[in-house]
Amino acid sequence: MNNADVPNNLLPVTCLVCGESQNTMVGGFDANGLPAGKVNCMVCRHEFQPDAYIRALELRRQEFAGLTGPSAL
Ligand SMILES: [Zn+2]
Repeated sequence: MNNADVPNNLLPVTCLVCGESQNTMVGGFDANGLPAGKVNCMVCRHEFQPDAYIRALELRRQEFAGLTGPSAL
């Protein structure tokens, strides 16, 4: 487990350029659990701007919540 420091609510965001959802992060995380440094696309190396990253992360969280949904047990 190399990524034990990554907050478990932090989902990889979708790249606006190539559509892949694989991110690289440098510099750890701030008090809000958000990346403190740069976030880049692992595939095409697009650098996410902070506000674009936050928006993409919110979208991903909504998608993820919709996928898991309420448990029917
Ligand atoms: Zn990309």
